[in-house]
Amino acid sequence: METPYAPGSLVVLIGSPGAGKSTYARRHFPTGRLCLDDFREMATDEAADQSATPTAAQIQNLLLDARLARGLTTVVDSTNVLPHVRAGLLARARYYQRPAVAVLFELPLADCLARNNARARQVPQNVVRELHQMTPTAEQLAAEGFASIRTIGLCEPARR
Ligand code: ATP
Ligand code: MG
Repeated sequence: METPYAPGSLVVLIGSPGAGKSTYARRHFPTGRLCLDDFREMATDEAADQSATPTAAQIQNLLLDARLARGLTTVVDSTNVLPHVRAGLLARARYYQRPAVAVLFELPLADCLARNNARARQVPQNVVRELHQMTPTAEQLAAEGFASIRTIGLCEPARR
């Protein structure tokens, strides 16, 4: 499948729960999607079990190393709203000399809440609010060192 991303990029999705990150990733990237929820679920049978986040992060880092070393495009499908999480991802991309691309989901809180409410797996509303508030601006991401920043808004269609 054709994507607008240079082969070998580290693509970091950034946005609130319910913003549409996983939907976007599944549509644009047939392979190479790394999702902490999936790893937490494999470890505990419960995607939201935060006690498994350290395990999930270790698995993600192992797979990032394996893929980036091979020059395979890799998508990090988590909220990535915390600066130190993005710093770790940027450091890995730098180590393997791969371009780090940010995909920033800039949706109003009300739409993230509505999408979250309408799906099977629901993140608590207060968590959506908190993470939405922590979402960085494109300017912040540029200052952090992302090679390019793509912004996704409400108009992005759910499916082709
Ligand atoms: P989380 O961080 O909790 O995993 P997410 O950002 O991955 O959230 P999704 O699960 O991809 O969000 O999407 C949330 C809901 O919104 C889903 O029900 C999905 O079908 C719907 N959705 C995603 N993108 C769009 C869109 N462009 N238009 C309308 N609905 C959408
Ligand atoms: Mg998701």
